[in-house]
Amino acid sequence: MRTMRANVFHSPGQFGVEEVPRPVPGPGDAILRVTTTTVCGTDLHIVRGEYAIRPGLVIGHEAVGVVDELGVGVRGAEVGQRVVVGAITPCGQCRACLSGNAAQCGREAGYRALGGWRFGNTMDGAQAEYLLVPDATANLAPIPDDVTDEQAVLLADIASTGFAGVESAEIRIGDAVVVFAEGPIGLCATAGARLRGAGLVVGVDPDPHRRAMAKRFGADVVLDPSASDVPAEVRRLTGGGADVAIEALGAQSTFEGCLRSLRPGGTLSSLGVYGGKIEIPHDAFAAGIGDHRILTTLCPGGKERMRRLLEMVRTGHFDPAPLITHRFRLDDLAEAYRLFGARAEGVLKVAVTP
Ligand SMILES: [Zn+2]
Ligand SMILES: [Zn+2]
Repeated sequence: MRTMRANVFHSPGQFGVEEVPRPVPGPGDAILRVTTTTVCGTDLHIVRGEYAIRPGLVIGHEAVGVVDELGVGVRGAEVGQRVVVGAITPCGQCRACLSGNAAQCGREAGYRALGGWRFGNTMDGAQAEYLLVPDATANLAPIPDDVTDEQAVLLADIASTGFAGVESAEIRIGDAVVVFAEGPIGLCATAGARLRGAGLVVGVDPDPHRRAMAKRFGADVVLDPSASDVPAEVRRLTGGGADVAIEALGAQSTFEGCLRSLRPGGTLSSLGVYGGKIEIPHDAFAAGIGDHRILTTLCPGGKERMRRLLEMVRTGHFDPAPLITHRFRLDDLAEAYRLFGARAEGVLKVAVTP
């Protein structure tokens, strides 16, 4: 039996790189030799026991690699091709996929939310030397030569999610947009708001490094929520409130900050994953008659989504590369989790190479 190194989850706090069997492709599957992967905030929720997965599963859902093997029936891909796979791997065949809602793909999960998220959730993930990609015909996106592995790996989840938040909000040319929390996803939402033609983009984060990055990713103004009344400041800057507020953390404070920063008729676009109950304050919600829209978006996947994002990088309209602040070998993954989990040394994203 051929084996590989992979980061296996056993129980909260118990995980690490070990030797496991190498995946074998079934019909429609592909095997990638992973060249770059990363650690995500979602992985931290898993290893801390805040999001339950099956013991024995390989963690990770963001991968760039080279096609190593193809199962029977895979179309549009070749062994040796350099590809990125979205964090969400839709089947392209089910009711959700064919209704244009691929992130909620229901191939194996009925119609529960997150059905399209398989890597490191319902099947083995990307923090490994090899990765089995299901429904490979729908999910392998070739990477142009002038896009790097590190750029491409950031498209799999981070950029796809951040951009999806601004696309869902239907930002118009000249809109005033405020982004609450300038982590990797918030930074991509900031860049996405700029790309959608926002007039004024306000970035909000207590961390000065992240505020500086928000400026680099296109924010006109940055605010420190620990030092100022952000909703009041946003209302002052925009003459009454933002058209769109993007929540990129998953906390009551940022959710409520978004709602309080909106003008009547504004849109709260929520990207965060919330740990507990969230409340909608009566006054911030104008008692339900403020014509507010509140919407949520899960990271879109699939090869056409990845192709579009790769095109933005290839043509120079978007460069996610500055998000990678640290680099690790797969065997040093424990240190990567420690650094990323502690948010030490100004870390935004880590690149991990098997
Ligand atoms: Zn992720
Ligand atoms: Zn599907």
